[in-house]
Amino acid sequence: MTAQTETNPVEDTIRAAVEQQRAFFRTKATLPIEFRLEQLKKFDRLIRAHEEELYDAIYSDFGKSRHHTQLTELFPLFEELELAIKHLKDWAKPRKVATNLLNQPGKSYIVAEPLGTTLVIGAWNFPYNLSLIPVVGSMMAGNTTVLKPSELPAETSRIMARIINENFDPGYLRVIEGAIPETTALLNQRWDKIFFTGSPQVGRIVNQAAAPHLTNVTLELGGKNPAIIAKDAPVDVSVKRLIWAKFINSGQLCLTPDYVLVHKSIKNKVLERMVHEIEKHDYSVERGNFTRIINERNFDRVAGLIDPEKVYYGGASDRAERVIQPTIVHNVSLDDPIMQDEIFGPIIAVLEYDTLDEAFDIVRQLEKPLAGYLFSHDRETKARFLAEIPFGSGAINDAVMQNTNSNLPFGGVGNSGMGRYHGEYSFECFSHMKPVLEKIFDFEPNLKYYGHSDRQLKLIRKLG
Ligand code: NAD
Repeated sequence: MTAQTETNPVEDTIRAAVEQQRAFFRTKATLPIEFRLEQLKKFDRLIRAHEEELYDAIYSDFGKSRHHTQLTELFPLFEELELAIKHLKDWAKPRKVATNLLNQPGKSYIVAEPLGTTLVIGAWNFPYNLSLIPVVGSMMAGNTTVLKPSELPAETSRIMARIINENFDPGYLRVIEGAIPETTALLNQRWDKIFFTGSPQVGRIVNQAAAPHLTNVTLELGGKNPAIIAKDAPVDVSVKRLIWAKFINSGQLCLTPDYVLVHKSIKNKVLERMVHEIEKHDYSVERGNFTRIINERNFDRVAGLIDPEKVYYGGASDRAERVIQPTIVHNVSLDDPIMQDEIFGPIIAVLEYDTLDEAFDIVRQLEKPLAGYLFSHDRETKARFLAEIPFGSGAINDAVMQNTNSNLPFGGVGNSGMGRYHGEYSFECFSHMKPVLEKIFDFEPNLKYYGHSDRQLKLIRKLG
């Protein structure tokens, strides 16, 4: 087993890269906040200097337009960098907490400690956003970082590797490109943190690889996100927001509404309005508001989910161009193939319901989703939605937009992941928040020592 590992060149290169990062971390260079700020500013400058190449790379990978890339990839990255640069000093300060009477005189605080050497594994659907925003989190927390972007959008992986590897000390920050063999070799190493974005299936592989070392893991996974349109919802504005959220990136978005539960009394109106909204947008790669499906394997998978008998609108596709028309399927039931797994493409599945209990039951029969959406004015419906439906993050009367507020953490629950990030939550995600009690030497009541009377025990309980 050992002999095999030693003769594997990929594994050897990767082991050396990790050792180099560990050695860099041991120099303590990443500890001063000034160093971290300098690196974040440098990172920001580099991304801005290479913006045009970043747009070209993503366009050539899957037809994602400059406008679309700005809104969903680079603007969120710049915002994350801005927040980090502005607030890092505050976030990194020890956080005071109250001290209980038993420990008086003393003080208590929480110190943020870098975890060490971290591995960030990115997904393909927002290759810059999902690779580089976690890297910012790791940098601000004072770690060294290896980034493994998704290999599917090859040009974006290449450009991120070039920008980072030509400008940073590889001991501090480095991109290692590759597919399953390289990722497997990376996962065979001991890390202090693994941050993974991708499917629940690969999330399990990552978690298993982390287990022998008890490595801290954040898993940003996916799932089938429900959107419930209650009978009191204003249809036009609800559908307008829903359709926009559904077809960003051609539905290749982890937060996208996957299926819609519509109250039967408004179903026809909702379907008609969906068509109106889709046609208004006139989605196409050429117009810059649509993208290609990432590869043929995914094209075949998504196109295969369209049951011609259930198509309400759309259904056409072009394999050579890897484009699937925005499609609405209706009269869908839980047994249909489209309800077995995350769609991750430009199809919206519409199911109708009668009572709220029925709608909630459908959602609860599936794995806990990454996102949940409700459209309703009704106070009780909203309260029940929040109390009874588990989801990673959500919105009421909107969809996806919760992700644009970096004061809200982003992450999943159960099958859709564990851990959370963005803004200050990213800082905490990549840090150990170390609790400390600090006492003075001058005073030592004997209360805590053995041989307590009943009266002393009562007092300890009271002071505790
Ligand atoms: P994926 O799981 O196929 O790949 C993610 C990463 O894992 C890639 O870097 C890939 O190289 C690597 N990988 C793939 N197979 C592997 C294996 N067998 N062993 C080791 N590494 C392996 O996911 P994807 O197709 O890139 O992305 C789609 C999925 O990601 C969807 O489920 C989507 O919902 C989810 N997603 C989640 C978020 C989030 O933030 N929660 C964001 C985007 C996508």
